[in-house]
Amino acid sequence: MNKNRKLKENKIKGQIEETIVEETEIVGGGNVTEVTEITETTAEAVDITAAEAEAERNALAESIDEGDYLLKVEHLKKYFPLATDFFGRPTSFVRAVDDVTFGVKAGQTVGIVGESGCGKTTMGRTVLRLHSVTGGKVIFDGHDIGSMSASQLRKIRPQIQMIFQDPYSSLSPRLRVGDIIGEAVAEHGIVPKEQLKDYVLSIMNKCGLQTHYYERYPHEFSGGQRQRICIARALALKPKLVICDEPVSALDVSIQAQIINLLKSLQKNDGIAYIFISHDLSVVEHISDEVGVMYLGSMVEYGNKKDIFANPMHPYTQALFSAVPVPDPDVKNKRIILKGDIPSPANPPSGCKFHTRCNKCMEICKTETPVFKEYAPGHRVACHLYEQNNLSGITHE
Ligand code: SF4
Repeated sequence: MNKNRKLKENKIKGQIEETIVEETEIVGGGNVTEVTEITETTAEAVDITAAEAEAERNALAESIDEGDYLLKVEHLKKYFPLATDFFGRPTSFVRAVDDVTFGVKAGQTVGIVGESGCGKTTMGRTVLRLHSVTGGKVIFDGHDIGSMSASQLRKIRPQIQMIFQDPYSSLSPRLRVGDIIGEAVAEHGIVPKEQLKDYVLSIMNKCGLQTHYYERYPHEFSGGQRQRICIARALALKPKLVICDEPVSALDVSIQAQIINLLKSLQKNDGIAYIFISHDLSVVEHISDEVGVMYLGSMVEYGNKKDIFANPMHPYTQALFSAVPVPDPDVKNKRIILKGDIPSPANPPSGCKFHTRCNKCMEICKTETPVFKEYAPGHRVACHLYEQNNLSGITHE
């Protein structure tokens, strides 16, 4: 596979070199036929790059499809209509999630990072089918969630749960804790009716909630305790996958550690898989097995946690990681400050979506979309920086 890729790249390089030679000849007195040949050669080179990009996309989706994953997200797209024509047909879209592919294994955690507005929460909600799927597939335990009917979806829902960012607004103020946790358990028939109270109490105990909280209302609790109630509510349905959407960002640092440790111990005991969405890189490093970095709806880097944290390759990842404080007064962090705001996903920049803010931007970045390529086993990056260097014969670790 790598050999074939190298051959293709050498072929493109050869064609580009031939084009430059031909151009030099034209300057010395070329004719119309030669100009046409150059245009055709360049078009062919672009075609090969496009074909290579398509081959990479398909190879990635294939590897996820054939892999031993509990959740397979393949070329997932979620577009929100922005404007419609006279007949109500959408004419422009916000591309909140644009061609995202990854997999989650049972009992593992995939951390998704990126700044606000990059599409990570929309991606999580689309996986759960809280938003409809615009394109691509979401396959959970062998079932295509994207094409399920409402009744099929209802049966599978207990197995995928979500923990929301704000524990204050995600609990009904009119229900007691016992009812909040037990409501969906009764609805989905997880345990017989006569065992419901004992089951809810056992789940509360597992999540560090005292049993006399059963009769209390959410307003009587602190933020950390409320988040424990949310975790207990999700856990009570015996899920295989939990999507944690910034579950600790509204909590104090000391409480954050308690919640993260609770999630980790539950994973160890029950083999639950997590998609952990956060902008806090220290927390993601602590809890994740694999990490994906999103920018403007697309995955720009993905790999094993150790690879990503030891060797961030994409300039956006490098900038994000440069902001993480190092707990050593002798180490000076070279902070990379990103220019400007994140562009609108309704009108993303051409070429590389990050080019308007990248301190390593080249001419090619403004016009051509980089291929999301594997540069080390399991470590993928979408950046021309490495493609260029590969064409010049420089190989990356
Ligand atoms: Fe920066 Fe270009 Fe790489 Fe995009 S492709 S991240 S603009 S160097």
